[in-house]
Amino acid sequence: MHTIMAEYIWIDGQKPTAKLRSKTKVLDQPVHHVSDLPEWGFDGSSTMQAHGHDSDCRLKPVCIVKDPVRGGDNILVLCEVFNADGSVHESNSRAHLREISELYKEHESWFGIEQEYTLFDGIKPLGWPDNGFPAPQGGYYCGVGADEVFGRDVVEAHMEACLKAGLLFCGINAEVMPGQWEFQIGPLGPLEVSDQIWLGRWLLYRVAEDFGVSATLNPKPVKGDWNGAGAHTNFSTKAMRADGGIDVITQACEKLSKRHEEHIAVYGAENERRLTGLHETCSIHEFKYGVSDRGASIRIPMATAKDGKGYLEDRRPAANMDPYQVCAMMMKTVCGNW
Ligand code: ADP
Ligand code: MN
Ligand code: MN
Ligand code: MN
Repeated sequence: MHTIMAEYIWIDGQKPTAKLRSKTKVLDQPVHHVSDLPEWGFDGSSTMQAHGHDSDCRLKPVCIVKDPVRGGDNILVLCEVFNADGSVHESNSRAHLREISELYKEHESWFGIEQEYTLFDGIKPLGWPDNGFPAPQGGYYCGVGADEVFGRDVVEAHMEACLKAGLLFCGINAEVMPGQWEFQIGPLGPLEVSDQIWLGRWLLYRVAEDFGVSATLNPKPVKGDWNGAGAHTNFSTKAMRADGGIDVITQACEKLSKRHEEHIAVYGAENERRLTGLHETCSIHEFKYGVSDRGASIRIPMATAKDGKGYLEDRRPAANMDPYQVCAMMMKTVCGNW
């Protein structure tokens, strides 16, 4: 007998921003396909997913990757949450994205998400002085040196873990605020990119644990003249990637301009603290799009404008957004016929 550890990971019911939870199931043999994994359950009254009586919730495995922390044949198992009677739990936003992906599958949507986050040492961002503030922003973005970047050991260990897990992890960079970093996943289909962002977040928290550091997706972790943290969502359809796709991208921007409030509603809690119009953002009360414009809601990358095809970047989502909801909203607005 060759036992393995399967870490069942799910998204809880905390509002306004859900958190990740996980627990370990020991299995008596290695598992390679998600369909070979047993369903499991948990006590929803401890995760804001049920009331005290009748509190059982069901975990249905939907995505497995290698567990880079435990190594060997151990696995991470991302799950959807269902009620005891088998109906979709209200906290399960992946179920809706499954329907939307199916509805618009002929568009062949691709997403690439830039996940920004801030490392914390207790109550202050990692590397910040115990009293007061570090030198003003300017030299930290993509910086090098012990006086410029803080937590590179954590960030490198996280990247290695994501690559070992087999995520389509495409890069990292140090951000504008010291202690703030970014990783990118994609391009992938809507369910794949979202599952991988949640797994990448779980790995970030888990890897940082071993360094005694915590990571937060708070969209504005420090008040004042310090950049917030976003989750720029890059999006393309088959038509946008084909010759002449720039016209499809412009039409998409026009559609997006008419659904600004609906999008902001699912782009993360407290995003108004981040989308101020300063710090490379567009005000939450405005919608603008433009080529290479980092002060716009939607940026059309320079290369896309030059090639006449490619993708658009929605700069509005906050770091704490739920990618299942963001991808669903994007596809409904851009791929929908209206
Ligand atoms: P930025 O210049 O905004 O910092 P990054 O290099 O951090 O850009 O991220 C670019 C993102 O765009 C990546 O997540 C990548 O996967 C994604 N991407 C690249 N090509 C496409 C495409 N055709 N459709 C959707 N996303 C894409
Ligand atoms: Mn980026
Ligand atoms: Mn960034
Ligand atoms: Mn970006």
